[in-house]
Amino acid sequence: MLDQGKVLFQEGTLITREMIDRLRNWNVGAVDVKITCARNAAPGSEEPVDADTVVAKGLDWLAQGAPLSMALDRLTQAIGRVYPSDHVYVSLLEGSPEVWLTIGSAGAFRLPDAARDQKFQAAVYFSGQTVCINELSLHKAPPVLARADMMSMCGVPVQIAGETVGTIEVFSQRPTAFLPADIDRLLRFAKLAAAAIFGAQRQERLQQTTDERDMLNEIMHFVTAAMPPDQLLSKVADSLRNYFCAQAVAAFTVQRLPHLNKTSEVLARNFSRNDMDRLKDIFLDRWPVVGDETGGDGYLLSLSERQQAFSVSFSGGKTLYVLPLFSQEFLQGVIALLWDYDRRGDAYFRMDEMMRTVAAQTALGLERHHLYTGVEKIGLTDELTGLSNRRMFNYLMEREINRSRRYNRPFSLVMIDIDHFKKINDTWGHPAGDVILRELGALMRENFRKLDVPVRYGGEEFACLLPETPLEEAIQVAERFRIIVEQNDFLDGRQRIPVTISLGVAAVGGGPNTETMTAEELLRFADRALYQAKQNGRNRIAASRIA
Ligand code: GH3
Ligand code: MG
Ligand code: MG
Repeated sequence: MLDQGKVLFQEGTLITREMIDRLRNWNVGAVDVKITCARNAAPGSEEPVDADTVVAKGLDWLAQGAPLSMALDRLTQAIGRVYPSDHVYVSLLEGSPEVWLTIGSAGAFRLPDAARDQKFQAAVYFSGQTVCINELSLHKAPPVLARADMMSMCGVPVQIAGETVGTIEVFSQRPTAFLPADIDRLLRFAKLAAAAIFGAQRQERLQQTTDERDMLNEIMHFVTAAMPPDQLLSKVADSLRNYFCAQAVAAFTVQRLPHLNKTSEVLARNFSRNDMDRLKDIFLDRWPVVGDETGGDGYLLSLSERQQAFSVSFSGGKTLYVLPLFSQEFLQGVIALLWDYDRRGDAYFRMDEMMRTVAAQTALGLERHHLYTGVEKIGLTDELTGLSNRRMFNYLMEREINRSRRYNRPFSLVMIDIDHFKKINDTWGHPAGDVILRELGALMRENFRKLDVPVRYGGEEFACLLPETPLEEAIQVAERFRIIVEQNDFLDGRQRIPVTISLGVAAVGGGPNTETMTAEELLRFADRALYQAKQNGRNRIAASRIA
């Protein structure tokens, strides 16, 4: 048993919030009642058991994969039966802030939950040692023990990987009630408890990573579905609320206007009127422009500088978690989650890390939309076609390539060049050439997907960024567009001007070179493919496979 235990104990030791919650519920609920009943039953109605039987049975429960609450429940009951006339306490140290929680008890009095170093004999347990006290009145024991006429005790630490995570203690109204053999017995129970706790933690962690992946996938799905920003933000905020079991959630979008960040409420779920008013007071229309010297609200300015999520205590002992959604240095929105208890400094399993990923993804989704619809257009669009210009192209390339690298998502680029455009100009005149350029711009806007970004790269060269698109798909999209152009009626008066294009396609994402790919390289590959298409006779596509 011990060997098996040792192998089990080598991994991490984190006790999660959920685990503690479950234990808390369990302690308050049925088990306490059951134990009390057992102890109040007439003497002899419960056969006393010996320690070996308990350990053997305990191993059986664990082998059957009994949940932690059940394993510890049975363990406490069994210990209670080994010590029929004494008082048994099993307590666990909560992760952060550390508190000793009584998770199983069999006795007439209750030990209060104590802070980490406040528990009676805490130092002994932390040093991994056991304690046996024959005359409690000679020690500075908690008053509750004296009130309950407790005369002696023995206690052992529950340890995982050498770290004390709990205790098992037995108290008696008789002085000098415990022998060294009792300590040995308790130590065996402690090993069993540690195995149960460790197994439950591991189970919990496995479950958590699956849930985590599902949640992140769901959010990724929202982000790439090209939905309006309000809807995107609402869906993400709801997912977070569900996942982290928050009491309430609110979300705001932030729009950059000259000298002001305009905030709009898009979601408020389950906030009381008071809390919501306070939240609005904080968020609505009061964001200072990032880097704006005039500052405004210092608290919010510091958020802009820190660009990080943080928790604050809110009215009535609640905790507000503020998740700013930054893309580059620009604030795109805010999600606020509210818990109705104090959870600052709470070691929620990987919460900050998950929040960071969610925030980055969502901010990009929001930014994409703002960029194409909002105030950002000035100076970033091409006058003739109304498409994004090269400056915008450079910026977006950088952003999408970073995103592709960071999250290992596919990203394709299509370069487009009109065939023999010089000849078209020469034949039909420069104004007719302009009409064709404008018409081609319109065709690009109409025929690519919402998430794609058509760009006038310069002269008679165009490009289209295809986020979330692997090479094969980009090739199909490009070929379809080539045919659309070929078949389109470009008209000069009533004259049909035949126009064809050549296209070069390149993509990143998923391959071995993804991590080192730069915007310049991707552009070079797409350009090379375009050159190839021209070489091969024009009015066709060519593709470069990279990364
Ligand atoms: P290829 O098939 O190899 O691409 O041949 P091409 O003639 O299209 O290529 P080239 O680069 O030699 O010529 C591009 C021409 O596009 C030259 C330039 O006068 C014309 N052009 C560039 N910008 C504009 C514009 O804004 N309006 C018009 N009408 N023509 C333009
Ligand atoms: Mg050209
Ligand atoms: Mg050309």
